[in-house]
Amino acid sequence: MKLTILNDNAPGHSCLSEFGLSYLLESDKKILFDTGATDVFIKNAQLLKISLDDIDAIVLSHGHWDHGNGLANLNGHQLICHPQSFIRRFHKKDNAYIGLNLSYNELKSKFVLVETQKPYKISPEITFLGEIPRKFDFEAKTTHYKDANGIDDFVPDDSALAITTSSGLVVVSGCAHAGICNTVDYARHITGVDKVSAVFGGFHLRSDNDQTKQTIEYLKALRIPNIYPAHCTSLPALAKFYEAFRIHQVLTGDYFYF
Ligand SMILES: [Zn+2]
Ligand SMILES: [Zn+2]
Repeated sequence: MKLTILNDNAPGHSCLSEFGLSYLLESDKKILFDTGATDVFIKNAQLLKISLDDIDAIVLSHGHWDHGNGLANLNGHQLICHPQSFIRRFHKKDNAYIGLNLSYNELKSKFVLVETQKPYKISPEITFLGEIPRKFDFEAKTTHYKDANGIDDFVPDDSALAITTSSGLVVVSGCAHAGICNTVDYARHITGVDKVSAVFGGFHLRSDNDQTKQTIEYLKALRIPNIYPAHCTSLPALAKFYEAFRIHQVLTGDYFYF
């Protein structure tokens, strides 16, 4: 399989970049995973000479603006996501709106929606995880977000993709609000594949705290050879990952084969 970083927070390879995430995945199907916040992913695809006309489906990792507002630039594909992706949601700190710009009805008129809380097999090799159980006690226990009624929003729609390859599972997360260990654990459970070859995407780790330490311990125990924390993984956490795994920074325009 090939994974191309159409957008992540850091620029590279003469590509544009913005705060947000959009990856292209090519294995037995061609899947656009998230669309970032604007049309940056489309401009970068053109720059990298990658066609998005023939994608088989779009997967939305969760209903936050920096992953789904780019959907305004597309039409007519299958859009796979969790049914809670469309709720109105806000940051507790400043009441900023952080949900999707397009309403449920607008999205429904643009795309063929596949809303699923359960895991959904997109192809023999690619599985959308659906709602991820929050199993570990060190992650996903607090939230900075609330819904329109002021009730805590733990982003239950947060999901990820699991791709089976000859070298093991590749797990691709959007923001990992469900916790990256919960995500990897559930991907292994759903697919029945224990060996994980790579983990990519937002890990939602912001500081050098207990969660970051326990996450590193968990990933170390699984002996995963390729770990690429990106997007919403902040510098103090990245520094810890660098110490533990000698990671490389994910740049927009990077691509990887597995
Ligand atoms: Zn995000
Ligand atoms: Zn998010």
